Amino acid sequence: MELSYQSIKTANQAREAEEMRTESRRRNLLILIFHHLMEAGYMDAASALEQDTNVALRRFEVCDNIDLDTVLMEYESYYFIKFQRYPKLTKKRPEPVESRHARSCGKKRVPCTGVQPLPRINSSHRPPSRGGVKKTEPKMVVKDASRAVGILLQENGGRSTPPESTEFGLNVSPIIRNGAGEGQMKKEPLLKPLSAFIGMNSEMRDLAAVISRDIYVQDPAVRWDDIIGLQAAKRLVKEAVVYPIKYPQLFTGILSPWKGLLLYGPPGTGKTLLAKAVATECNTTFFNISASSIVSKWRGDSEKLVRVLFELARYHAPSTIFLDELESVMSQRGTGGGGEHEGSRRMKTELLVQMDGLARSDDLVFVLAASNLPWELDHAMLRRLEKRILVGLPSGPARQAMVSHWLPPLSCTGGVELRTELAYETLAQAMEGYSGSDIRLVCKEAAMRPVRKIFDALESHQQGSCNMPVIHLETVATEDFLEVIAHTKPSARNLTDKYTAWETEYESV
Ligand code: ADP
Repeated sequence: MELSYQSIKTANQAREAEEMRTESRRRNLLILIFHHLMEAGYMDAASALEQDTNVALRRFEVCDNIDLDTVLMEYESYYFIKFQRYPKLTKKRPEPVESRHARSCGKKRVPCTGVQPLPRINSSHRPPSRGGVKKTEPKMVVKDASRAVGILLQENGGRSTPPESTEFGLNVSPIIRNGAGEGQMKKEPLLKPLSAFIGMNSEMRDLAAVISRDIYVQDPAVRWDDIIGLQAAKRLVKEAVVYPIKYPQLFTGILSPWKGLLLYGPPGTGKTLLAKAVATECNTTFFNISASSIVSKWRGDSEKLVRVLFELARYHAPSTIFLDELESVMSQRGTGGGGEHEGSRRMKTELLVQMDGLARSDDLVFVLAASNLPWELDHAMLRRLEKRILVGLPSGPARQAMVSHWLPPLSCTGGVELRTELAYETLAQAMEGYSGSDIRLVCKEAAMRPVRKIFDALESHQQGSCNMPVIHLETVATEDFLEVIAHTKPSARNLTDKYTAWETEYESV
């Protein structure tokens, strides 16, 4: 084949041009990533990228109307037009065998040491999406654990991922919920980076970092359906937390969302369970603060902690702040003889100021409080908790549903079959005045009885012996259950009148 001088020259020029284009694409990609990290507030990651690449990336800027978001969106639109579906851009890596084993053994996940720096798509910079595809917002649960304040991460509300989001290629690192089917995916929460947490002095920022450090990648896994009875309370909580986020256009003017809700009632009736359901099911950042630990562990700083907490809640909005045992921080001011501790008074005032701030703003931040002793609560605080719902002792049908839920005719625990023959209605009647947690305790004790009988057989069996008899648990009968009831007294029956009296005076549902 004859090669002319001209053709060799042209081929060389084409190769050089292609090389330049590749080089320029690589550099552009780095600049786009750098720009994206800076925009999203991942300053440290951006600096690290600059250092790693050894390119002065900040000397470049991206052109108008261009950023990674837009590029991805354009690509998705192109792909959708071409293939009538969205491209799948990321997928979950196969899980290592050990970690799968650890999870199946019920090992707790280790708390993260900081906010997972997964870049969050900033809605304010996002051009309108095409094809009606919606990106879901990050979600997070802040949970009191061993410390006063911690953060739990949780998935988007809803039992199953909405079809549009599973189809949508941008689902980064989906993880599978414990116990969920393989097909059910859960999105890894994307938190906004704290480095973008502006408007605070360094002390406040440090406090925010402390609050955000205790992040647990697990959710309470309590579904609305797991809560037996309490229909009115469930409806009101949904109305206050879920619907304003889902249907914002309905919640304007006189219908502006509630800012505070108090769940009060005897202990063990499901108040915390309701809050956990909010954390599991709702698409909000959930801060779970045990009020008593604010006081005991944060004493001097508790006022600042409250301020930062609300700032963080606004920053991560839509958010829910759950204040458990409210009476331990918001008891009536000036009571308790000897005067109050100055710090505690300042903290109460700060909480009231913050609640007022919420009432005046359009921020989607909602305070959910729980108290076993509502009559001890400060009146100023009560006024700010616009909705007050009695979470009372379970009704007859609810008690019956509880017993049949915890002790069904046949259940299998740890490979051992437990059978029951129970007259549920009779048992429900016999447990009038029992709270949900009392009933659970009775069920546990009743189930324990036949198990106790096999302990002897287990203990007497010689280690290593293969002649272990097959274990058969005795059936739990109604008489056994009634005997347990006779020996397990309800914990809160005496207070019923007091709750009813308080309800008459302060009810707001
Ligand atoms: P509290 O009202 O004191 O916050 P919790 O919500 O912590 O009570 O309930 C304690 C336990 O009692 C729960 O973990 C659950 O096992 C049981 N329980 C109480 N009420 C209900 C209910 N309505 N449905 C299901 N379980 C309940």
